[in-house]
Amino acid sequence: MTAVTRFAPSPTNHLHLGHAYSAWFAWTAAGTAAGGRFLLRIEDIDTLRCKPAFEAAILEDLAWLGLAWDGPVVRQSARLALYRDALGRLLDDRLAYPCFCSRSDIAREIAESGGAPHLDAMGAVLFRGTGGGLAPAAREDRAASGVPYAIRLDADAVLARHGPLCWTDDGESDAAGTHAVSAAVLGDVVIARRDVPASYHLAVAIDDAAQGVTLVTRGADLAPASHIHRMLQAALGLPVPTWRHHRLIAGADGHRLAKRNNPLTLRMIREGGASPAQVWARLGVADYPPPPV
Ligand code: GLU
Repeated sequence: MTAVTRFAPSPTNHLHLGHAYSAWFAWTAAGTAAGGRFLLRIEDIDTLRCKPAFEAAILEDLAWLGLAWDGPVVRQSARLALYRDALGRLLDDRLAYPCFCSRSDIAREIAESGGAPHLDAMGAVLFRGTGGGLAPAAREDRAASGVPYAIRLDADAVLARHGPLCWTDDGESDAAGTHAVSAAVLGDVVIARRDVPASYHLAVAIDDAAQGVTLVTRGADLAPASHIHRMLQAALGLPVPTWRHHRLIAGADGHRLAKRNNPLTLRMIREGGASPAQVWARLGVADYPPPPV
């Protein structure tokens, strides 16, 4: 079986073992020896946190691991015009709306209503279905007045027009199976801000389609995002891939590796004298690429 897969790191820090596993997972799922393609996409729309030095380090780490990608490296920062176009279509189609609530407005409203915040499947406060509480013309006036705002996907509107929808994970993680897309999983997510024409969700949906990705692989922590990406695919008329989420790699303390916990980076491992084979052994991976000569 071959597929077109991608590894899509954000250059906000050095890669760690969890990234090595994620990159390997995409590489092995592609079946490059049999004609599949493993692509590399740098998710660098967050210009404050992303640094060219981290991107250079990502390329170096992947080369050290022997994970050769096909074709040119795609950078999201070079694709903002495409995201802006798609966003315009979603707004014109009334499948997205400007939202003027700040995080503190949302927190205050929840506190005043005496309720505990509803958290979405990824742990953020769930924002749903008010459409900003403003009529479309009033929203446009307010957006034009220069106040900061976010653009949110109108999940109910997408499902009303394009639903019912589902997405399928053909893997073995907890996310495996076919899932009915639900607006309640992540709510009306932010898909852009006044000054940034795309969030992670919008950019990923557009780029996976543009790069011809047939199998989306990534950590199981991102599985809830597939509900959003499936809605964006329907709303923008994009092809629908299959998904395969993977288990998360835990550190020596048993906790999931995340960039913010300062885990041992691949660079530190390499500089400590370990070989790629030792990295693969630590990850329990047998069918790894031969070391580069
Ligand atoms: N850029 C995301 C990350 O670094 C990966 C997103 C994806 O694979 O869909 O976690």
